[in-house]
Amino acid sequence: MSETYSGEVYCVKCKEKREVTDAVVAENANGRRMAKGTCPVCGTTVVRIMGKKK
Ligand SMILES: [Zn+2]
Repeated sequence: MSETYSGEVYCVKCKEKREVTDAVVAENANGRRMAKGTCPVCGTTVVRIMGKKK
């Protein structure tokens, strides 16, 4: 079961922050966590760098 993220993510296409829900949180090889979701306005994939778990 994968972790999800809901919140603001910057969309590079809209050049604005968008509210995403159910963005999938994944950890890359460097141990960095990032949430990958879809812009509700233009449909572009938006990625938010989460950093380390606090
Ligand atoms: Zn967008």
